[in-house]
Amino acid sequence: MTTKNAALLRKDQFILPDGMIYLDGNSLGPLPRAVPSRVAAMVADEWGEHLIKGWNLDGWMGQPMRVGDMVGRLIGAPSGSIVMGDTLSIKVYQALASALKMRPKRKVVLSDSGNFPSDLYMAEGLIAHLDQGHELRIVAPEDVAAEITDEVAAVMITQVDYRTGRLHDMAGITKQAHAAGAVMIWDLAHSAGAIPVDVAASGCEFAVGCTYKYLNGGPGAPAFIYVRPDITPDIAPALSGWLGHDAPFAFEQGYRPAKDVERMRVGTPPVLQLTALETALSVWNDVDMQDLRAASIALSELFIAEVEARCPQLTLVSPRDPLVRGSQVSFAFENGYAAIQALIAQDIIGDFRSPNIMRFGFTPLYLDTNDVRRAVDVLQDVLENRLWDVPEFRAVKRVT
Ligand SMILES: *Cc1c(COP(=O)(O)O)cnc(C)c1O
Repeated sequence: MTTKNAALLRKDQFILPDGMIYLDGNSLGPLPRAVPSRVAAMVADEWGEHLIKGWNLDGWMGQPMRVGDMVGRLIGAPSGSIVMGDTLSIKVYQALASALKMRPKRKVVLSDSGNFPSDLYMAEGLIAHLDQGHELRIVAPEDVAAEITDEVAAVMITQVDYRTGRLHDMAGITKQAHAAGAVMIWDLAHSAGAIPVDVAASGCEFAVGCTYKYLNGGPGAPAFIYVRPDITPDIAPALSGWLGHDAPFAFEQGYRPAKDVERMRVGTPPVLQLTALETALSVWNDVDMQDLRAASIALSELFIAEVEARCPQLTLVSPRDPLVRGSQVSFAFENGYAAIQALIAQDIIGDFRSPNIMRFGFTPLYLDTNDVRRAVDVLQDVLENRLWDVPEFRAVKRVT
């Protein structure tokens, strides 16, 4: 275990400001050391020198599938089943729109109150736009399994709750969805790069996720979408852009979807962001996801034990059982926003989620037990000495 964790830890592969303890890799991963020079070279040599020839010469057009395969290796998706592009909200929309087409007689989209608002908003918008009498049914996370009835067209769930870190049983819920005849969509925003995931084994029809959280692709990094290969030929794309066409450069008058998951492409790929992401993904090269999970649990358990021993002001809101918790830990505190600001002022970076949640992400590639202990030292100081209780930390910023 010790040697495995030592091999897992690779702080030197990241650029982390001196003295900062970064417990927010669940929201925006840090900069992998190899990225700046690779992106600079891409800009200078590929864009600068090759200009439009870069699409062929430098493989830009193939990047969304090539990088999709790299993501696929981390979440158990076979080669050729994932394509990159757009943002996660868009990919949620595409997956749900296609799922509803697969079950035209059913009218319920089932999700839970732990889902990220954007997923729910996108479902609302799609339903309103379709105007076919669909209903978005939002139930408590614990009730999802029981609420999968034969009215349900699609179950659309984020595996790890962004607030509490509560973890859904991906295989179990997918099985129940299928037993009831529903299509299963998983949002892996807080799973990819955080916990072992086996998309193919789950049998789900769709999986989506973002790459700027645990996968360290940088702000604005593109999202991914997985479509189960056997159903891909029958999937109707809602966003029928030219790069999802079977022959984009034939410039045909009418839309014909690509034969494979490329039909989920829309328009021109974000080549700079994909280059950053492709390089960032190389830090995962010999990472065993089971080892990562063990290390993440060890760090999270240590954090909870230390906080509960030293910070009685805080209440754990994440599941206590690590097996039903993702790679983040949340505590409730009435003055949580100000307390997080006070921590950030001392270079301990966590974040705040409304109404009162202090959230901390655990990422064993660049965090160790000393970091966790030092973070709790500062947290204890902030709480005991009410360092948060100043106007400067109470003023709420635009991004929390
Ligand atoms: C982070 C996150 C998003 C963000 O969507 P973007 O379109 O990439 O801004 C959406 N859904 C979930 C579940 C998330 O965790």
